[in-house]
Amino acid sequence: MTQTDTLQLFQPMEEREFEHISFFHDQKTGLRSIIAIHSTKLGPALGGCRFYPYANEQKALADVMNLAQSMTSKAAMAGLELGGGKSVILGNPKKDKNPQILEAFAKCVERLGGKYITSVDSGTSSEDLDIFSRQTKHVVGLTPNMGGAGDPSPLTALGVLCGIEASVEHCFGSKDLTGKKVAIQGVGHVGYILTKLLREKGAEIVISDVDAQKASDTAKQLQVETCSADEIVSRECDIFAPCAMGGVINEKSLDTLKCKIVAGAANNPLASKEVARDLFEKGILYAPDFVINAGGLIHVAQELRGYDREKVEAKTMNIYKTIKSILERADQDKVSPATVARSMAREIVEKAQ
Ligand code: NAD
Repeated sequence: MTQTDTLQLFQPMEEREFEHISFFHDQKTGLRSIIAIHSTKLGPALGGCRFYPYANEQKALADVMNLAQSMTSKAAMAGLELGGGKSVILGNPKKDKNPQILEAFAKCVERLGGKYITSVDSGTSSEDLDIFSRQTKHVVGLTPNMGGAGDPSPLTALGVLCGIEASVEHCFGSKDLTGKKVAIQGVGHVGYILTKLLREKGAEIVISDVDAQKASDTAKQLQVETCSADEIVSRECDIFAPCAMGGVINEKSLDTLKCKIVAGAANNPLASKEVARDLFEKGILYAPDFVINAGGLIHVAQELRGYDREKVEAKTMNIYKTIKSILERADQDKVSPATVARSMAREIVEKAQ
């Protein structure tokens, strides 16, 4: 069978209701990038740009499609008039990132005429967005020096904290986090701040990071325990907070979980819909990722209307109420919270149409 025989582009787009996928290549800089627009029914598609060394092109396409689709639900559930999109640059940001490749990418964003608005994601920073802004006006999350709102991670972490409190209240009858055991996977931009916030709430925390130096520096600074990257998923705890990459809870790792709640910042931490169902059947409460991690999107989206910190914080803290209502409806309907959240998001998008 040839590569062409196995290539499937339009069928998944049709099944998942994608509007648009663009592939960009720039000979001069070596840029290889994909921009996926899932939906513009609620407004222009906003979603960050991930710079990542994908093992192959199929993995990059799968990732950008999953992320873009989640963004549609994320914006809808956060009450934003925005659609869902995302972009990826294929490469290792530590080696391949330079102003030329970033500007080449930004020209691609500009060519889409505002249908897609880019921002920050893993492998890119607000400083990179400043470089994007030389070539496109369709970018949010710039540094304050450039008139932007800056790094969205603190707001993402605040939203995750609120979602954890709602989940803990649903599970234990009180949102008090004193003495609750939390295992945090990944102490990057969001994981680090979340560790700090949870520590202030009196939680007992264990962290891990594939970057062992980062894990030990964070542990020293914030006085928390560390464990190996392999061990964190199966650590006995009340809350497992994935704050690294997607797909961490899969058929293999599912049986090793020893937590009561899964609630963290990572996009798409569940490998499949079946895993969401299995988690539910095992009695493990799951706070849907695209609801709990919306604080960063709320933060950058506000830039489009004139930044207002109070509004951003209030909207982000509303994640507490949204997660509570999802968990209550999941109990009533006896389906997983992920299913409930997806259908709530779909209702919002369909109503807007
Ligand atoms: P980041 O790249 O700053 O941090 C991720 C950290 O996870 C890094 O320190 C990395 O070394 C570590 N890591 C990677 N694989 C790991 C593993 N298997 N075990 C332990 N550690 C591992 O990214 P971030 O901005 O903190 O985002 C974290 C997650 O949250 C991502 O999935 C991202 O898409 C999602 N997210 C982030 C934001 C935001 O505002 N930054 C918003 C919404 C969602």
